[in-house]
Amino acid sequence: MNRNTDALHPYPTPPRSPFNGPTDADESSPIRVIASSRVIRAGQLTAGTIVVSNETGKITSVFDSVLPPSEFPAGTPYRDYSPHIILPGLVDAHVHLNEPGRTEWEGFYTGTQAAAFGGVTTVIDMPLNAIPPTTTVANLHEKIRAAQGKCWVDVGFYGGIIPGNENELQALVREGVRGFKGFLIDSGVEEFPAVHYSDIEKVFRELADEPTTVMFHAEMLPPIADSVGDDVQTSLPPLAPRGALNSYNTFLQSRPPAFECYAVEEILSLAHLAPKLPLHIVHLSAMEAIPLLRLARRQGINITAETCPHYLSLAAEQVRDGDTRHKCCPPIRSQRNQDVLWAELLEYANDGVIQTIVSDHSPCTPDLKLLPSHVPGHLAPSKNTVKTEVLDDETGDFFSAWGGISSVGLGLPILWTEMHRRGITTSTSDSPDRNVDAAIQNIVQWCCVNTAAQVGLEKQKGTIAVGFDADFCIFDDEAEWIVEPSTMLFRNKCSPYQGKTMKGMVTETWLRGRVVFVKNGPNDGFVNEKCSGQLLLEPRQKEMKRQKSWFAQWIGQAFGY
Ligand SMILES: [Zn+2]
Repeated sequence: MNRNTDALHPYPTPPRSPFNGPTDADESSPIRVIASSRVIRAGQLTAGTIVVSNETGKITSVFDSVLPPSEFPAGTPYRDYSPHIILPGLVDAHVHLNEPGRTEWEGFYTGTQAAAFGGVTTVIDMPLNAIPPTTTVANLHEKIRAAQGKCWVDVGFYGGIIPGNENELQALVREGVRGFKGFLIDSGVEEFPAVHYSDIEKVFRELADEPTTVMFHAEMLPPIADSVGDDVQTSLPPLAPRGALNSYNTFLQSRPPAFECYAVEEILSLAHLAPKLPLHIVHLSAMEAIPLLRLARRQGINITAETCPHYLSLAAEQVRDGDTRHKCCPPIRSQRNQDVLWAELLEYANDGVIQTIVSDHSPCTPDLKLLPSHVPGHLAPSKNTVKTEVLDDETGDFFSAWGGISSVGLGLPILWTEMHRRGITTSTSDSPDRNVDAAIQNIVQWCCVNTAAQVGLEKQKGTIAVGFDADFCIFDDEAEWIVEPSTMLFRNKCSPYQGKTMKGMVTETWLRGRVVFVKNGPNDGFVNEKCSGQLLLEPRQKEMKRQKSWFAQWIGQAFGY
């Protein structure tokens, strides 16, 4: 299938209706105050009051009770959100916004609106699927120009690793990329080829001492020898699909867990070249890779992994034939695989292999999903399209359809719904809120604190504390709603979550001390006249090494420790 969409016209940013909502701010006050009986801060869910500077958009004080408005100067904007939960704004560290070049798939404007709808206040854009890919400084500059003035939440950028671009990598760190990503298997777009052993060696040498993270799409074809022993007499060609192309099972079997394990082994075998460089596996799916990573971490290798809401809430057994909305790579695996991913997350909530949950929002135009007519999101061929046999044959074909799931902004309700289904949030008679408290704290750890750290924003984002950006997500953990086109704010309304009932809804999103999104607010909830998201281009800083004092050094030398 030709995925090169150069020929398509750029998709225009949708026009906005004139501002007609209430003004969100009283700009004459130097501060504003929010409070709730339930605030996540310092790893706890407690009552709290948060004071925000109108000038800097940062948190200036946090109190551990709900203070009344009378405690603040007259005229101070004040809102008590009880009983809804105030969380830090979510940091989604894996989003494909596709602009410029494939803006008909997604764009900064629509992608960041979808993020704000779900309480996500920071997204980090992946280096591929836009054209050009973010593999050089010049290409990064092109992306920055495309993003200016279109972002409803803060946006950072990853750089890309492809064969031959190692000389650009240090310069990209200086330009503020939050990390790098490379593929060990075909990426699906020709301008972003996979790297091989020798390329990774060069990359690790180049970035060994840089303040960054190197991440890999960890699927890799194991080497296939010309001879496969006695089986050579009878086996099918090793890469040929073994069943109907519209059967999910055929697709699942074509990308076995061994692909992920083999890729992880390859990365680990090179880790000694850059022992200080944080390594990261994006969108881990196969449970079989977890023990490999756990052992590596025990041996001192600085490697982590992320997983995604779709691996934690969808299962292969439920995917109907032809429903390519579920196609992503690596694939959604069995229910048992999903259970093991949850066990890893919960058992190792603070120091596990899987430390972050990210959307991997990777949309395309619905036609590229080749959906059959009975699946929501199906795009009827236009009248001008000559219906060909080829088109009919490709309907629901998991191998020809674009791989990627649209879900930016849906992560919090998806996780909350799934935790509810699993009984993780169920109350007990002795302490009715304890399980809810623990569950929401885990989500904050996976989706705010740890994702911010993954991209070097741990001192600015993902935590409610003095000095941090006043990014908040107001969460009604009891609300129920159905995912439908009007609640999918990303550009193309095509997602496997359509029609699903969610528990938990974001009612307001704040960015840098200003309300960005209000559920049921005017202008589709985007109450400000202009979008005010910033581009996060401050270069990552090296961690300060703790210097021993002269006395400690002297003691160490004198006594041999
Ligand atoms: Zn991705």
